[in-house]
Amino acid sequence: MTTDVLKQSVVVFSKNYLPINQINIKRAIILLVTDKAEPLDVGDIKHIPVHSPTMVLLVPQQIRLKINHTEKSWRVPAVTRREVLRRDKHSCQYCGSPKQLTLDHVIPLSWGGKHTWDNVVAACEPCNNRSAR
Ligand SMILES: [Zn+2]
Repeated sequence: MTTDVLKQSVVVFSKNYLPINQINIKRAIILLVTDKAEPLDVGDIKHIPVHSPTMVLLVPQQIRLKINHTEKSWRVPAVTRREVLRRDKHSCQYCGSPKQLTLDHVIPLSWGGKHTWDNVVAACEPCNNRSAR
């Protein structure tokens, strides 16, 4: 029962009331108790009761950050070779080879593709050369 509650997620809004993330309830509690966030102040929001041995915590389903979310802990990690290879489990996303891995831009930079997480994949050198345009 308690573990089910802890699997629920909370929507985080920025200072400007824009939804920016969905986090698990434990993280939401941490943000609330460390005063980095507050319950989102809109009409009737739902609360998720979380029972601890000594008390019942009512965790709002929407919280708003008090801090600027461009702070380090919220920044999207840089798209580095090491991180991309880790995300793609050290295998070429075209043929599955674990050898000669490089990064490939799905939409080539020359076509206006960006060096972002959704445009960079791990690719082995033969596949990368094949897809080079
Ligand atoms: Zn390949």
